[in-house]
Formats: sequence, structure tokens, C-alpha cells
Amino acid sequence: MNQSLEIAQIGNPILRQSAQFIHNIQDEHLQQLIDALILTATGKNGVGIAAPQVSASYRLFIVASRPNPRYPNAPEMKPTAMINPRIIAHSEKMVKDWEGCLSIPGIRGLVPRYQTIEVEYTSRDGKLSSQKLTDFVARIFQHEYDHLDGIVFLDRVQSSQDLLQEEEYQKRIVQNCDRTG
Ligand code: ZN
Repeated sequence: MNQSLEIAQIGNPILRQSAQFIHNIQDEHLQQLIDALILTATGKNGVGIAAPQVSASYRLFIVASRPNPRYPNAPEMKPTAMINPRIIAHSEKMVKDWEGCLSIPGIRGLVPRYQTIEVEYTSRDGKLSSQKLTDFVARIFQHEYDHLDGIVFLDRVQSSQDLLQEEEYQKRIVQNCDRTG
């Protein structure tokens, strides 16, 4: 399994299911799924992907923040598999920013998320890891975490006026950011 996987699109019931807890992290198929998820996310200029998005309903996602044409201002990090992730604590403060989703192509939405979260997850080599995440990476985590519970970013948008078509987003938001630095 060394090729890009097919992405489940909005309307597919798999995206609305609660995903299963993973018990056997050494499982060969799980390890292959992780490799394929990383390949799929990076190949499609995604900064994250959750297993249910490739029709594998398990509590696993990849966080792979890096600058790319869809997210030019993203911080660079090594793609990280997060298994059975949990949010342990979060800031009071929420911030709104734009999100997209490989399962909802062509649409961007302004989504409120906690600015800082403390998380726990098991890494692909079976180690329990705790981390404090802020801003964009915290946003990716919360977006992917929602996928494990059958939630998509559209559910969190506060007004339909906070939705933009992709080209409008590129024209109005990305170029505007570039001008103002
Ligand atoms: Zn998504």
C-alpha cells in the first residue's frame, strides 16, 4: 500500500460515524495505513488527515503541518501519526480562522477553535506522548479529532456567511494576508 488512498466525500456516512479505539499498534495493516495516510495527505497538499476520511473508521490521524499552496503560512513539522488521541485541557480563549477539508473540496469556512490545547496520544511506535499545541497546529488537531467523532468543520461554522468558495478564498483572504504580511 504505497499509493494515495481515495478520500471519502461529505455525504458518505463513514464521515459521520464514531471511530473505533485502536488496541494493536504493532499491527502490520495499521502501520501500512499510517504510511498511506501520510502519503495521501502530503500528496494532496493537506496538513492533516484522519483515518475515517479514507474509510478506515479508527481513532487515528496524521498532523503534517508545512507551508504549501493551500496553506502558505503553515509551520513546518514532520508528519506525525496520532493514535487514540485525547484533549486533556484547553484554553478558555477561542480563535477563528479559515479551514478546508479534503472531504469537502472547494469550500473554506471560518471556524472557532481553542487557541491552546494539551493533548495525549500514542505514537506509531507505541509510546504515550503528551504535548501542548497552539494556534495552527492546535487547529489541525481539533479538526482531525472531530473527524473521529463524526464531526466536520461545517458543523462548527457559526454563520453560513463564514463560508467561501475556494477561488474566492484565494482571491480575498490569501492575497490579502500576503499584502499585509
Ligand atoms: Zn477534514
